[in-house]
Formats: sequence, structure tokens, C-alpha cells
Amino acid sequence: VRMAKRIAGNSVVFCTPQLAANEARTMETENRLREAIAGNELEMYFQPQASVRTGDVVGVEALVRWHHPDLGLMSPESFIAIAEEAGITAELGCWAIQSAIAEICRMERHGLPPLQLSVNVSADMFTGLSGRDLVAHVRQALVREGMAPQRLTLEITERSIIDENGNGPQVIDALKALGVKLALDDFGTGYSSLSYLKALPIDELKIDKTFIMGNAKEDRAFLRAIIMMAKTLNMSVLAEGVETRDQLVRLYEEGCDLYQGYLCSPPVPAHALADVIKTRFPGTSNPQADCNRIM
Ligand code: C2E
Ligand code: MG
Ligand code: MG
Ligand code: MG
Repeated sequence: VRMAKRIAGNSVVFCTPQLAANEARTMETENRLREAIAGNELEMYFQPQASVRTGDVVGVEALVRWHHPDLGLMSPESFIAIAEEAGITAELGCWAIQSAIAEICRMERHGLPPLQLSVNVSADMFTGLSGRDLVAHVRQALVREGMAPQRLTLEITERSIIDENGNGPQVIDALKALGVKLALDDFGTGYSSLSYLKALPIDELKIDKTFIMGNAKEDRAFLRAIIMMAKTLNMSVLAEGVETRDQLVRLYEEGCDLYQGYLCSPPVPAHALADVIKTRFPGTSNPQADCNRIM
């Protein structure tokens, strides 16, 4: 449609073959993504979240994957931007919330221990769906699967809080009233004012992996400051992208609560979760599996 308009209008002079080809490709991807959401090409992967102190897995984060028929397994960074442009983040987001909850509940019926479930919610969902719709959808998904709201954590970013419509804070309050937990994702990479942090009922801060990976003196100082601030505000704090034992030791020394990263496990399909969790769940201590255990 957009291309037709362009060709019909006088803007056709600006539409070089290269641009037209790019646009056609994007539109094709948009349509493919729509079909993928409707069909069954999307799959939720889950990455464990573990206690820094004990190594016990206490939660998982749901991370969407697209089995593209031609391009193979695609990570979300490549298609979430497309979804945003196509205005279908709400569809994608509803699918993500519904299927993450359903998958985890299904695995629990097969013996997976109860874990805290984190689901990412894009900033567009706060604006695209009216807040009431998002809250209603979350409530519906929880009721359908019989999951307690306290077990669901929605990961939002600083962008959701300061969206142009300005309704982020109301949506957050409504979600809290429902009983779900809220985590602030990629903390430190956005641009929100610290006063928001004080005012909003955020339960968990997720420190962006750039602060974990950096080895400079400033990175350590930043890490320490974020952890101290989170503690002061009664939030739990989770470090993202932990890949080495040295990084884990540093987090332990700084008093970080939780971590997530390849050191513990990459994101895995739901059916593989039980195996990853098996040796790292409280009460199932296995001396051979304590490689990531600090205490
Ligand atoms: P995020 O929520 O910050 O997720 C963390 C990303 O870091 C994931 O990338 C994860 O696979 C990756 N990661 C985990 N451990 C390590 C590590 O040790 N080292 C490194 N270098 N990376 C690690 P992924 O799965 O590609 O997702 C990228 C982003 O896409 C997510 O960032 C999130 O913002 C978004 N996303 C993923 N799934 C969904 C979804 O269902 N809905 C929405 N709205 N966004 C999603
Ligand atoms: Mg996240
Ligand atoms: Mg993150
Ligand atoms: Mg990220």
C-alpha cells in the first residue's frame, strides 16, 4: 500500500530502486511477521535467573524467538523494530504474555518447580494498547492459566515510563493493583530521571550488561552505586549478561541479589528448562553442579 501510494504520488522521484527494494523487503518481512504471530513460527525461550549468593535458580525470563522459514532462528532485536514500525507490537506483546504464562504452567504440570516468570513488555504497548487493555489482557492470561499475579514480573524500560502520552505511571499503578511485579530492564542505558525511580512502585532493577562486562574502574563504581541505590529504594537488583565467574564474584562482593547470563545458562526452549533447573533448585543441591555457587 505504501509503495503504491508512493508510485502514484509525485514523491516517485525520490523513490530510488534501492529504496523501493528496501521497502518491499520490509513490507514482506512485516507480512511474514504478522503471519508468524498468527501461525506457530514464534517460540518462547526461557533464561534462568539465579541467586548470586547460592546459585539457586529462582526465576526465568521469557525471550521470544522466530523460526523464520528462510532465515532460521531470529533473535528479537532484528524483528521487534519491524513490529514497532508495522504497529503490531500489541499483537506480539499479547502473544508473548499469553504464551510465556501458558508454557510455564504447562511445564509445571510436567514437574517444573514454580518459578518467578519475567516477561518483557515493549514501551509501545503502554501507548499502543490503552493501559486498560494491557492490564485486562494480563489479568485474563493469569486467570486462564491459574497463575498467581505475584509470580509474574513485567519487564519495562525507561521508555515506558516517559512515553509521549504520559500514561505510563497510570498503567504501572493499575498493574501493581492487579498484583504483578515490575522490573526496570536495561537500567543505566536510558534517560529516566531518578525521581521516577523514587516515585514508581518498581520491584526490581535489572542492571544492563554493559556495566557488567566493562572492566574499567568506573564500571565497578557504577555497579556499586546502582546496587546501593536499589537497596535504599527497597528494590531487588539483578545483573544481566553475566558470562564469567570473575563477574559473578564481583557481583557477590557488591551485594547484588540475582544474576542472569550465559554463565548460568543461555535462553533455552521450555522443554529444556527442567534439565537446566534440576541441579540448581533449592533443596536439590548436587555437589557436581555447584560451579556457579559462591556460598
Ligand atoms: P533483554 O530483555 O534485556 O534481554 C536480555 C538479552 O541478553 C537477551 O537477548 C538474552 O539472550 C541476552 N543475553 C542473555 N545472557 C547473555 C550473556 O551472558 N551475554 C550476552 N551478551 N547476552 C546475553 P535476546 O533474547 O536477543 O533479546 C533481546 C531483547 O529483545 C531483549 O532484551 C528484549 O528487550 C527484547 N525482547 C525479547 N523477547 C521479547 C518479548 O517477548 N517481548 C518484547 N517486548 N521484547 C522482547
Ligand atoms: Mg528483559
Ligand atoms: Mg535487559
Ligand atoms: Mg536489552
